[in-house]
Formats: sequence, C-alpha cells, structure tokens
Amino acid sequence: MAYKAEYIWIDGTEPTPLLRSKTKVIFEGEPGLWGFDGSSTNQAPGKASDCVLRPVAVYDDPIRGEGDKLVMCEVLLTDMTPHPTNTRAALAQVAEKYAGDEPLFGLEQEYTLFKGSRPLGFPDNGGYPGPQGPYYCGVGQDDVYGRPLVEAHLEACLKAGLILSGINAEVMPGQWEFQVGPLSPLEVSDQLWVARWLLHRLGEEFGISITLDPKPVRGDWNGAGCHTNFSTKLMRENYEAVVAAAEALGKAADEHVHQYGAGIEHRLTGQHETAPWNEFSYGVSDRGASVRIPWQVEVDGKGYLEDRRPNANVDPYVVTRLITNTCCSAASGN
Ligand code: ADP
Ligand code: MN
Ligand code: MN
Ligand code: MN
Repeated sequence: MAYKAEYIWIDGTEPTPLLRSKTKVIFEGEPGLWGFDGSSTNQAPGKASDCVLRPVAVYDDPIRGEGDKLVMCEVLLTDMTPHPTNTRAALAQVAEKYAGDEPLFGLEQEYTLFKGSRPLGFPDNGGYPGPQGPYYCGVGQDDVYGRPLVEAHLEACLKAGLILSGINAEVMPGQWEFQVGPLSPLEVSDQLWVARWLLHRLGEEFGISITLDPKPVRGDWNGAGCHTNFSTKLMRENYEAVVAAAEALGKAADEHVHQYGAGIEHRLTGQHETAPWNEFSYGVSDRGASVRIPWQVEVDGKGYLEDRRPNANVDPYVVTRLITNTCCSAASGN
C-alpha cells in the first residue's frame, strides 16, 4: 500500500530559519534520500539549486492517518557533506563524544498564537487586555485563548510518538507552552522541530498563526522562551555536579547567549522573570537568574538545572550542543 511521507526540513532564512516540508508518495520501502530546490529556501544559488534531504527520524503522521509518516530530515550538499545551514551535524558529533555522560534535555517551548496582526485575546480595536496576572495556567473564556488548537496539538504530538511531558497556558494572554523530553540531545531536538511543525500545520486548520518571536508584544508583557533543562548521569546522582555545570555555563555565558535565538536582548531585560542578557547568575529556585537549580533538586541533592536564557526561537540543535559541550567538557577536562 502506498503511503504519504511528509519530508520536513529547516531552511536558510536568517536570522531565524523556517520549517519547510513536502510530500513524497512512497509505494514500497522506507523513506530514502530526496532533494529540493535550495534556491527557493535561501540554501543555494539558482544555477546549482539542488540540495539533498536525508531522513534522520521518522514518526507517525497524526494528521493524515494510518501508515502515513512525518520524516524529519537534515540538509546535505550534493557531495553528501552537511549543508552550511545544517546545525544537526555538529550536534551529532558532540552528542557522540559525550554519549557516555548520558546527557538528557527537557525543552519548554513557549509560543504565541496570533489572529491577524494581534495575539489571540488582544482586542481587535487596538486596545489591550487586562494586565498579566490571571492568564498563567488559567481557566475560563475571559482568561484563556486558543485552547482547542493547543489540545489538538498535544494529541497530535502524542499520536506521532513524540515524548511531551505537559502543556500550560502562559503569563501573557494567547501565549502557551509545551515541554518535550527528557530525551537525549538529538532526540529532543528532532522532536521539538517536528512538534513545532505540527503546531504550525494545525494552526492552518484553526485559522491561527503561531509565532516563536521572543518578544511578540513590547512593554509590560512576558516574552517567549525555551527554558532548557539539562542533566548528565553524574548530575542525576550528585548535587556538586549540578553546581559544577552551572559554574561551567557561567564561564561560557557570552558564547552561549549570542546563539540562544535572535532578539535575545529584547527578552532578557531583567524584568518579566528574566535575568539581563549580559549578566550571568545562577541560584536555587530563582526565576530571575540566568540558570535556576530547582528547589527539589537542592532538597534531593541531585537532579538537573534549568538554563532560562534560550529564546522561543532558538535552534534546539544549537542550544543542546552548546550546553552538552560546555558542561561535559568542564566535567571531564576535555
Ligand atoms: P518549569 O517549572 O520551569 O515550568 P516544566 O515542568 O515546564 O518546568 O519543565 C521541566 C522540564 O524539565 C520538563 O521537560 C522535564 O521533562 C524536564 N526534566 C525533568 N527532569 C529532568 C532531568 N533530570 N534532566 C533533564 N530534563 C529534565
Ligand atoms: Mn514550564
Ligand atoms: Mn513557561
Ligand atoms: Mn521553566
């Protein structure tokens, strides 16, 4: 029986790439190599436009149905080396190098729903909803906007086989979060990209657009982040290793923050549960710090840490590579 394989990849749009996808009808066998026109995705000049799609992870397609697949791909040049926009290849190397440390990540993807030019829940006439307060984890039609899409998205992710750990309404009206993981660096990143694709795709059905803009509304409204929770086997056994990882992140703070998503200085202002983008801090329970060690982790004397800096629009292949490399190399000395 023929099935439909939706090949999904990340394009070359700067500074924040977009998701692209197209359908291949497969009459027999597994999804194999495919190609696309890189001159239409900022990935190649028109004279040499072919780019290669290599499947890296295959999931059930929860929208089309039985037997159909979502195929997450990486982009290669025609000589089969990674395309310059392929950030997964560098993560694969780091993940392999430190696989023995058993790194795990949980990514909290915040996002904002838009109807036309305004966030869902903001009045059409240009006015503003009441100030932040009742919206976070709220219930009821005065405070919650877009739940049918959010529920459909959670259901679709689980049907696809993605490991989500939860969802919640966020502090700004129309803003929501889902969490992927805990999973290995490559798994969590592939799955986050596919979960993002499903969100955009389902938005089409609901007439709602999705933005990962880190600061969709200026002023006294929370931005959207992608808090990155991280542990190694040692951190899951030993509190000193959690503190050592936080210290290592402090030493590499500058290198990290510049790769944590475009527009980070607009979100990490020191207000709205953020630390200033150019000052590193860490603390137990502290949601005003760059890195938070959860209260329970201190009590248990083991666990994980939360890097609160990454923007909603961060590339998970980049953030998981940076954190794995920084923390694991500090722990092992190489
Ligand atoms: P917050 O209180 O910051 O909103 P969430 O519950 O939204 O926290 O997200 C916490 C994330 O941390 C989840 O994705 C969860 O799977 C992940 N997590 C839990 N334990 C670990 C661990 N040991 N290593 C990495 N991630 C973890
Ligand atoms: Mn959360
Ligand atoms: Mn959140
Ligand atoms: Mn968090």
